[in-house]
Amino acid sequence: MEQIGILEGREKQIFEKKDGGQAFDISCETTSLSGSVSQRACVFCGSRVVLYPVADALHLVHGPIGCAAYTWDIRGAVSSGPELHRLSFSTDLREMDVIYGGEKKLYASLIELIEKFSPKAAFIYSTCIIGLIGDDIDAVCRKVAKETGIPVLPVHSEGFKGTKKDGYKAACTALMKLVGTGPIEDISPYSINILGEFNLAGEAWIIRKYYEEMGIEVVSTMTGDGRVGAVRRAHGATLNVVQCSGSMTSLAKDMEAKYGIPYIRVSYFGIEDMSAALYDVAKHFPDRPEIMEKAKEIVSREVRNLYPKLQKFKAALSGKKAAIYVGGAFKTFSLIKALRSVGMSVVLAGSQTGNKEDYLALKEMCDEGTVIVDDSNPVELSKFILEKEADLLIGGVKERPIAFKLGVGFCDHNHERKIPLAGFEGMYNFILEVYQSVMSPVWQFAPRKGGSL
Ligand code: SF4
Repeated sequence: MEQIGILEGREKQIFEKKDGGQAFDISCETTSLSGSVSQRACVFCGSRVVLYPVADALHLVHGPIGCAAYTWDIRGAVSSGPELHRLSFSTDLREMDVIYGGEKKLYASLIELIEKFSPKAAFIYSTCIIGLIGDDIDAVCRKVAKETGIPVLPVHSEGFKGTKKDGYKAACTALMKLVGTGPIEDISPYSINILGEFNLAGEAWIIRKYYEEMGIEVVSTMTGDGRVGAVRRAHGATLNVVQCSGSMTSLAKDMEAKYGIPYIRVSYFGIEDMSAALYDVAKHFPDRPEIMEKAKEIVSREVRNLYPKLQKFKAALSGKKAAIYVGGAFKTFSLIKALRSVGMSVVLAGSQTGNKEDYLALKEMCDEGTVIVDDSNPVELSKFILEKEADLLIGGVKERPIAFKLGVGFCDHNHERKIPLAGFEGMYNFILEVYQSVMSPVWQFAPRKGGSL
């Protein structure tokens, strides 16, 4: 069978774990190789996914309409109240605006939209073309903020100026301008902010419920089911609990530097990591032991309920192989543990935005023969799925067609999912989806492809 090759220039971003412990020097955190058709989104998209769930803010994309269309309703990001975030506004720049500048159009759009929708704040996203023509969006934002009385925040996310991760940073910089502007007098000393949880299918509500049951006040969730008012008060919390390695660590670090709020990293996927996320927060409040007692009670109750249900899937899934390609590498760790708990192994693990530290940790936890990839592309993913005979691909919307074309199961762990996969109930939903996809009778009609495309 003909082998699929690897693009010249991509070799250093791929590593296969082999017996004997070869040197690990994966290349990452670099711009994508030209022409590789990277699965990774641009800087603007990175900032948009982080800020998008702030439901009572206006999100205005300053650039050509294509950028707005690309990110319109990009995620579920459900809201328990306002849904202004689900509208995608754009200044729709045309040729004449590119020649003469788009500042007037931006100003007019902002005034019109703020008058019509009365948002609590406005985020203005700078796209590639703005970086080229040099509109001073900071000046326009300052002018509109002064005239309307609401925070108008520029997001410097010109698509070409880095990787998706730089977009996360641009979003955090914008959020940081809001933090510290609200009242905090009535906030409990036993309080947290949940960072990096985007409430795609109601996960933020599940997590929030656990912490509140432990007696902890959740001041803000950034940004899932987010509200401008809550972000403004976030500096009143005692601890920042950060999910996912990439998207919001920079905000946590900035808040630590400015307000002295420490942060911990957690994951809400899988029994092991979900339990640790509750225990680690409880440990932060040693003077109130009942918080830890309650955490133990929740874990014991939920595991007692969940464990027997998982066993029936384990019999069918044991020995099956999974390939994982997601945004942040931190999520991969949890997924590997969750799949192992039902007897599955991982043959390919990769991410769009992992750093050296993440990949080193990934290498340590992977089995021999596992391929680790950074900033991959469809051809590469196909190659390893075929060669390693994966039964399942876990990824996002852009990876779904790859799996289906190859005749292997797919589980959406990203933008488009409609069921929550976090928390203990999310673990059940996840394994159920894995089971239904891997064991589906549909594969007899669309059998798995062989070792070539
Ligand atoms: S910001 Fe640039 S790279 Fe991103 S969608 Fe717009 S044009 Fe494309």
